[in-house]
Amino acid sequence: MKYISTRGKTEPVGFLDAVMEGLAPDGGLLLPESLPDVSGRLAVWKNLSYPELAFEVMSLFADDLPAGDLKNLIEKSYASFRVADVAPVVPVADFHILELWHGPTLAFKDVALQFLGNLFEYILQKRGGELNLLGATSGDTGSAAIAGVRGKENIRIFVMHPRGRTSPIQEKQMTSVLDENVFNLAVEGTFDDCQHLMKSIFADVAFKEKYSLGSVNSVNWARVLAQIVYYFHAAFRVQETTGAEQVQFAVPTGNFGDIMAGYLAVQMGLPVKKLILATNENNILSRFFNTGTYSIGKVVPTLSPSMDIQVASNFERYLYYHTGQNSGKLRELMDGFAKNRSLSVELNTNGAVDDLFAAGEGNTEQTLATIKKNHAQTGYVLDPHTAVGVAVAERFQTPGIPTICLATAHPAKFPDAIRRAIGTAVHHPLLDALAEAETRCETIANDEAAIRAYLAKKAGV
Ligand SMILES: *Cc1c(COP(=O)(O)O)cnc(C)c1O
Repeated sequence: MKYISTRGKTEPVGFLDAVMEGLAPDGGLLLPESLPDVSGRLAVWKNLSYPELAFEVMSLFADDLPAGDLKNLIEKSYASFRVADVAPVVPVADFHILELWHGPTLAFKDVALQFLGNLFEYILQKRGGELNLLGATSGDTGSAAIAGVRGKENIRIFVMHPRGRTSPIQEKQMTSVLDENVFNLAVEGTFDDCQHLMKSIFADVAFKEKYSLGSVNSVNWARVLAQIVYYFHAAFRVQETTGAEQVQFAVPTGNFGDIMAGYLAVQMGLPVKKLILATNENNILSRFFNTGTYSIGKVVPTLSPSMDIQVASNFERYLYYHTGQNSGKLRELMDGFAKNRSLSVELNTNGAVDDLFAAGEGNTEQTLATIKKNHAQTGYVLDPHTAVGVAVAERFQTPGIPTICLATAHPAKFPDAIRRAIGTAVHHPLLDALAEAETRCETIANDEAAIRAYLAKKAGV
């Protein structure tokens, strides 16, 4: 399988190169040049364990990786999950909750980043070289990325977070990782400052090459690929218990990475009625699917911080398919967006951007009410991100079509929101243990020269 750029100005590359490149050299995102139709295999796939299914799905897209090696990477990646099923589906009220948070950091990002960390290590072992990952985080991504590469050979990770501005739990999750290849940098500035520092350093191609800098952000194809697996897995489990042919998915959305994987699963032949896209007040994506216009607003902080995003980094992948895989048209749209901070597509005869999608916003009040109601009725506690998805899913129920709501984090990660909703926090032993944990973190000035000097000293190249 070869990978092409959405912008159409790069030579196709193989899977391993696509993983190492992250972003395509022409500024586009990498996608497989064709999508396999697997509808004839579903009857066999439904009997597979999670790692077996992951192998079947991923091997279609990674043919430059020997089968035995891919199998080992998958097994190693999902052995770090606390349940054999990796992503169990549990019935809660009218919904089926797909628990994606059984990995090391209690967030769905582990599903992809555990795999990506092992894959990076494997590729470096094969090809030689070093990789110095640089990231900026306001919380979740940083800890899942650190957990993905801690202790790995030939890889170092440098994660900048705004000093004193991430939640105490998320900060502890990052800084309590003491492996020698993990460097936490508490920048004296805001999250925007961290992101700005990162972008500015990555823009210096000579520096980037000299120090073998790479990133683990959500545009990496391997992350999307790993996420495709659980759409199949969850649909099979719910088909078994309900006898339904078709299902629908509700996805709490920020960067469009998670729901993009669902979109690809549907294109491959998974029988899905609707993908329900749920945003919080940062609603650029729900506005797009309801109006056809994608225009940047101001980021507002909410109870679901991992979805506090305006420009969704994976959206360009969807837009490429929406243009009928027309790179010229896509470039026009993206150029217009860069200029005007807004782009528009035509609506179809149903007045929709895409009949596969339903979209809505769950605001703070609805998030809290949804957590409260589900807890009162069933005893189950939704985390605030998952609650946004459930709140929106309630508006799009269809008789005979079971709805699977993706649960993207464990509620113990967000004690303040949970306390507001149900009056008491929930606990998880992994997070409780952090209170006593030793930490390591370097405070550093909000100054690009200081960050560069730190990288140069520690990069090991
Ligand atoms: C990252 C994240 C999301 C959003 O996923 P995207 O792929 O960015 O759309 C939702 N919930 C949680 C808990 C997350 O960490």
